[in-house]
Amino acid sequence: MSGSTKGEKYGSLIIRNATLVNGRGTPASGPTDIVIEGDRITEVVSVSPGAASRSGFKRPEGDVEIDAAGMYVLPGFVDMHVHVPFRESQCGPEAPEYAYKLFLAHGVTTIRTCGFGTDEKLVEHRRLSEENGLAAPRIVVMGSTGEITTPDEGREAVHRLHKLGTDGIKMIPRSNVTAEILAAMGEEVRELDMKAGIAVHIPQSSELDAVTASEAVPDYLSLEHTYGIPQAAIPGSQSLPPDYNYSDEVDRFRLSGHVWTEADRYPDNVLWALDTMIENGTVWDPTMAVYEINREYQLPSRWRWLDRYAAPGLLRGWEPNPASHATYHFNWRTADEVAWKQKYRIWMKYLKVFADRGGVVTAGTDCGFMYTLYGFGLVRELELLQEAGFHPIGVVKIATTNATASMGLKDLAGGVQKGFTADIAIVDGNPLDNFKVMYGTGVKMYSEDRTSVVQGGGVRWTIKGGALYDCRTLLNEVEEYVSELKG
Ligand SMILES: [Zn+2]
Repeated sequence: MSGSTKGEKYGSLIIRNATLVNGRGTPASGPTDIVIEGDRITEVVSVSPGAASRSGFKRPEGDVEIDAAGMYVLPGFVDMHVHVPFRESQCGPEAPEYAYKLFLAHGVTTIRTCGFGTDEKLVEHRRLSEENGLAAPRIVVMGSTGEITTPDEGREAVHRLHKLGTDGIKMIPRSNVTAEILAAMGEEVRELDMKAGIAVHIPQSSELDAVTASEAVPDYLSLEHTYGIPQAAIPGSQSLPPDYNYSDEVDRFRLSGHVWTEADRYPDNVLWALDTMIENGTVWDPTMAVYEINREYQLPSRWRWLDRYAAPGLLRGWEPNPASHATYHFNWRTADEVAWKQKYRIWMKYLKVFADRGGVVTAGTDCGFMYTLYGFGLVRELELLQEAGFHPIGVVKIATTNATASMGLKDLAGGVQKGFTADIAIVDGNPLDNFKVMYGTGVKMYSEDRTSVVQGGGVRWTIKGGALYDCRTLLNEVEEYVSELKG
């Protein structure tokens, strides 16, 4: 059974002999048979010797079978911070389809898009994806507001986007956006029941911080990246040098490398900020993968998968360039990398503290920037969450049911369980042992007799709403597309 790159639907589909990680934070179990009818999981049955020997035990039947012996079945993954590419100069004439295929090929069945003025197209793609008319993950559209200067303008922007059909709002509150404006928008979002809420990226130039934003929008806010938390903890402003210029991205990102180190001198303040977020139900979506280049420039720019799967326009766009955004790696120094390494240690420490005290963490990437490639980037984020101290079982929960629950997607929030929507990743290998098995490029491993090295791993199939995708074929199509773009 192979599925296709279009998403094949069957009367009933059965996954046999799988080891199941259901995404709710409980341990793996198996072997298990999972039955999917229409878009639902209708049975999850243990077929372990103990269960099978009980009287009256009957193995479930299905029209079409997948033998997943030796494989792991997990809920479909969610990338919470995505900008779908639409520009031909970036990813060629089929830019969005290219990115969607890379997501599906990595078991990503839902993406939350974070603005940039493509809301109408994305609402249309969301509909096509729901109807299985487009090979794409589910799309949760966070609309962009444009500039807002008063609470009334904020309310109007929310209404406009709600009418357009977006699921939530993405905001980068400029310096003129006050807590009052944000609160007005939060009220509208609540009234209109936009369950995906407001995702804020609080720039360092904003007067808002994690605490004021969290208080302004209880229950409907997710905080993107890491901005706003150290700012809330540091009394007054960060100790910036006198010639610092926020508009210069080298300055901005260089000094951003020191902000957590400075905040860590006020640990009680950091805990106060985190606890305020927890009390207000603010979700933290750290997107560690995209900033990793700051701690080791040579590393992400040499990821092995870029040669085969990165569109040439992306690679060109990531080259150091003072005229574009997030391409500030010129004059990037050893000291900058050392500072960012320290920043990651502290950032990760408090991310884990936030979760340990009851905060909800999700996994997002901001892929498309700084060598973070669609699909691959999310696997890297899983690795970084493990580095932050989360157990792999917890990492899977963060990247699946934490995300779906936080966006009010109730039919997905149970993970791989009877009665829930069938969004599933079937992985050739054990991601709890090694997340690297999920990369489309797979992993090198011992042959069975341990005398040579063989290529293994990869997400084998992705199921979205009961539709089956063959991940290897998806990757082959992407590879061909990229080589055509290269001419
Ligand atoms: Zn972004």
